[in-house]
Amino acid sequence: MPGKNISKAAPLSREEVALREELRDDVQHLAGEIGERNMWRYQQLNAAADFIENSFSRAGLHPRRDSYELHGRVCHNIEVEIPGTRPDVVLIGAHYDSVLGSPGANDNGSGVAALLALARRFTGKTTQHTLRFVAFVNEEPPYFLSGQMGSFVYASRCKGRGDRIDAMISLETIGYFSDALHSQTYPAPGLGVLYPTVGNFIGFVANLHSRALLRRVIGLFREHAKIPSEGAGLPAFIPGVSWSDQWSFWQHGYSGIMITDTAPFRYPHYHSSTDTPDKLDYDRFTLVVSGMEKVIADLAQGLKL
Ligand SMILES: [Zn+2]
Repeated sequence: MPGKNISKAAPLSREEVALREELRDDVQHLAGEIGERNMWRYQQLNAAADFIENSFSRAGLHPRRDSYELHGRVCHNIEVEIPGTRPDVVLIGAHYDSVLGSPGANDNGSGVAALLALARRFTGKTTQHTLRFVAFVNEEPPYFLSGQMGSFVYASRCKGRGDRIDAMISLETIGYFSDALHSQTYPAPGLGVLYPTVGNFIGFVANLHSRALLRRVIGLFREHAKIPSEGAGLPAFIPGVSWSDQWSFWQHGYSGIMITDTAPFRYPHYHSSTDTPDKLDYDRFTLVVSGMEKVIADLAQGLKL
């Protein structure tokens, strides 16, 4: 729907223009070429895993498959690690499956494209914190909020090994913005009084346990980013707060936050066959990712909560 979502974003720098084209290409590959990818489209699910693995490799990173079996079929989380001077980890994650019946451009081609672009930008850099970039399988229903989610399996293995993960950042549906009045709704009455009713911002969401991390990330994001942001540390029972891979890390005692355009409360194509690459606002999506690049760089230089 060209023209309906005209971007009023701040102008992009030369680096951001290059970033925008990477994001556009990767969303197109995942949602336009591979399309729907989940356990019912198992071949496509594996094509997405291969694409992510190859993208990491081409960047000079060494991907590892963290695999498990579900319904007699092997599924893969794909991770890369960029070692820091300390073992403590800042982990960036995004799920790469799409919900049944949807090509998943925004949910969550956007998160995966951002994950890949961010990993490329930290390749070869030395930070204090160790960075991990992980693409998770099986986030969507019927695995959603269960022990069968890729991120749940992954987080429980981290816990078992005693991995010290100081922060988990879940990139979940981050590419849709609107300047229309009342384009933003909320899961609980009252939040619409506190927060904007125009869906032109990026949201940061945490449970109460992760509020310190949330405050730190939003503070850093606002120092650098050229797009409005809103944050909420809310009880996890409020609908939407726990709706992605950060939940799996909360279940294992780790702090985690989600970055999201608030999909179900804004995006008209949420979980639909029309969640296609043309619906995204690539300029503002780029400003989210370039802002997060600076947040991660700062966090990795020493996470003080
Ligand atoms: Zn999602």
